[in-house]
Amino acid sequence: MKYIVVLGDGMADEPLEELGGKTPLEYAETPQMDALAKAGEIGMVKTVPEGMSPGSDTANLSVLGYDPKIYYSGRSPLEALNIGVDMEDGDVAVRVNLVTLSEEEGEYEEKRILDHSSDEISTEEAAQLLEAVREVLENEVFQFYVGTSYRHCLIWKKGMVMPLTPPHDIRGKKIREYLPQDPLFLKMQKKSYEILQNHPVNVKRREQGLNPANSLWFWGAGTKPSLSPFEKKFGKKGAMISAVDLLKGIAVGTNMKNISVEGANGGLHTNYEGKAKAALQVLLKDGYDFAYIHVEAPDEMGHQGSTEKKIQAIEYLDQRVIRMVKEGMDDSGEDYRMLILPDHPTPICVKTHTADPVPYLLYDSRKNEKHGWKYNEAEAEKSGNRVTEGHELMKYLFCEG
Ligand SMILES: [Zn+2]
Repeated sequence: MKYIVVLGDGMADEPLEELGGKTPLEYAETPQMDALAKAGEIGMVKTVPEGMSPGSDTANLSVLGYDPKIYYSGRSPLEALNIGVDMEDGDVAVRVNLVTLSEEEGEYEEKRILDHSSDEISTEEAAQLLEAVREVLENEVFQFYVGTSYRHCLIWKKGMVMPLTPPHDIRGKKIREYLPQDPLFLKMQKKSYEILQNHPVNVKRREQGLNPANSLWFWGAGTKPSLSPFEKKFGKKGAMISAVDLLKGIAVGTNMKNISVEGANGGLHTNYEGKAKAALQVLLKDGYDFAYIHVEAPDEMGHQGSTEKKIQAIEYLDQRVIRMVKEGMDDSGEDYRMLILPDHPTPICVKTHTADPVPYLLYDSRKNEKHGWKYNEAEAEKSGNRVTEGHELMKYLFCEG
């Protein structure tokens, strides 16, 4: 028996007037998912526990079977695991975004945050900018680590976890009331603007019509996580197929195998087929029991507020990942159970995550139940199936029932 999760990050949404009252998932052409829903089971699952914020971190921990109320210790520490940072007890990891602030004259506090990702700056350019930051701001207490694209990490020796605002939640807003309360962190953010604004990398980016990465933005602070190994917890050998540091970090923390797919980049034009192939390889050739295929694109398109691109991302997921996985598994003759779901909604109307329950689809190759269901929010709701503790869903996937 093989087990597969296909996770469309942020795929769930709300009904949109421009789609005649349908959600992007409902509107998209998804023949694969609909066929699986007809033969399988659909329902709603609450992946974000009451009172926790709806990050991809908490939600993916839930989906993977780790109760975030027990295992979650902040976002940045999970990413730090993937960057290879060796955290000590007492250290605090803080996510460092390279962001674009508006560049008018005057006070730092009066600027607006234009882009939380600096046009998804390349890792090479980001490394040069962080080097410049490091020369001024790094010392025995604060150490910077280069991650991927606009996502980096700061380790604060014997630090303190404090509330900080995710920059993707405040796009377009004036930053004054969202800045770090801690004076040291505020000072570092302000200083970073001075260091980065006219850095050659940014001068060139402006010439190319790209957003300059002109400030650091701190958020996602947390302490060293202690996750139990996936194989010990569930008795299955698992592999993670994702382009993003967070998911790869969760895999490092849970001793799952991380599989890098060439051209997988977390964007709309990622290597969908490559991810499907990697899953088939690891399950059918390399002796793994479980593959987690994470696709970031629907979430990014939700943050961008693009209905059209979000629909496109969902259709790609259906036709370029799920179809290939299903055909490959069917051809192999292996029995399998496949769970398809988002981690959280990223509704177009708010351009950020919400904590609402999400629709899941569970397919078992040995069953062919023939309902009239399609896979979308409204029908999953109507099915009456409800999982209130998201982390229970993994046990359900593994129960042979
Ligand atoms: Zn997101």
